Amino acid sequence: MLTNLQARDVATVLHPYSNLATLPRQGSLILERGEGVFVYDVDGKPYLEGMAGLWCNALGHGREELVEVAAEQMRKLPFAHLFTGKSHDPAIALAEKLKELSPMPAAKVFFCNSGSEANDTQVKLVWYVNNALGRPAKKKIISRIKGYHGVTVASASLTGLPNNHIDFDLPIAGVRHAACPHHYRFGRPDESEEEFATRLAAELDAQIEAEGPETVAAFIAEPVMGAGGVIVPPETYYPKIQAVLEKHDVILIADEVITGFGRLGEWFGSTAMKMKPDTVSIAKALSSSYVPIAGVIIPDWIDDALSCQSEKIGVFGHGFTYSGHPVAAAVALRTLEIYERENVLGHVNGLIPQFQRRLKALGGHPLVGEARGVGLVGAVEAVADKATRRGFDPKAGVAAKIVAFAQEEGLIVRAIGDAVAICPPLVITAAELDLLFDRLETALDRADHWAGAQNLR
Ligand code: PMP
Repeated sequence: MLTNLQARDVATVLHPYSNLATLPRQGSLILERGEGVFVYDVDGKPYLEGMAGLWCNALGHGREELVEVAAEQMRKLPFAHLFTGKSHDPAIALAEKLKELSPMPAAKVFFCNSGSEANDTQVKLVWYVNNALGRPAKKKIISRIKGYHGVTVASASLTGLPNNHIDFDLPIAGVRHAACPHHYRFGRPDESEEEFATRLAAELDAQIEAEGPETVAAFIAEPVMGAGGVIVPPETYYPKIQAVLEKHDVILIADEVITGFGRLGEWFGSTAMKMKPDTVSIAKALSSSYVPIAGVIIPDWIDDALSCQSEKIGVFGHGFTYSGHPVAAAVALRTLEIYERENVLGHVNGLIPQFQRRLKALGGHPLVGEARGVGLVGAVEAVADKATRRGFDPKAGVAAKIVAFAQEEGLIVRAIGDAVAICPPLVITAAELDLLFDRLETALDRADHWAGAQNLR
């Protein structure tokens, strides 16, 4: 039975990323406020936010300082744009700070409002710059199966998940998908992680050869796949992939939308995962998601190509009304200052051993086939048979059940296929982290009991 607010919600709000058939019967969890790593629903029940919202609310809720800086900027100059020879201090200062932090030698920052826009911008820059450089055939972009890069037309095409393509008439032309670096699922029997990484690099090499290297422009990858199920590639995967890309003059775009700003214990996941990107997409923790802001960090040679092209054809025809929105830029700049002032990276590095110990311990749970993660992000994958790694019938909705039990226990986590993802705010304390895993364990026990009673194995 839905409450009045739930009924109004499902009657009026078209929910993103939801099952639109079942949601009207189940109703939404309607949140009212947040404090630290907890959010409260309209009945006042607290939930530990085990997903930092959507992998993004790094500093938790209730940061008055961010409220103040937004209010101050709104009083001073609530809107100004960066088009046609205009600029403003918050965007300039933020771009300078990002250049300083960038995991690759950076020339400039192009601001957007979402991760999807950042990755769409990456696609358009690849096309535009390769035209400008006189190699119009070099346009294809390779992403990976289970990679997640957003939902706009180009970024959804890069995303390697069926639900983002089926019936949306995607992917667009020129996008290819390479193998997913998930050893547990796609490694051959008796293939070590190292051998698996070597094979994937060889497959990518063959794929680029088959396409024609003169037609392949870029490879886009999240250092650790997030929305595809928190997939951590083997340690030598990126160096091996990078060698293939260099051989064929294919650039590497790092999608750091989740991994940027501390998630893996370093400013960027690229350095943590031994990637050397040519360009980087950022969003989410850039502002701790207090306001929407995203960006693309570009190197000198792209910047130079863009300027040269403007010499020839005039205006660079790309930009959003809210590119570098002053309120968002001011909040993002303050967020980065807080990360530094409070040594959030140091805090994360202090927590990682506990997080990984408690996560990996869940691998021993009867319902869990693999407990995987790196830094402060992880997932547990439910299996029907641990020995054979056989999954449950997807219709049984086992991960969704784990998430529902967790919610009853006062913990928010996220189901992705048969996996349950965990990505807490970076500022979570050691005691809160223990509470998170205690509640998740209870949810797993309850789901295991339920799966047994339903004869799902
Ligand atoms: N890239 C990655 C790695 C993401 O995780 C996401 C969102 N979860 C996006 C891009 C898309 O970002 P947005 O939802 O802000 O468009």
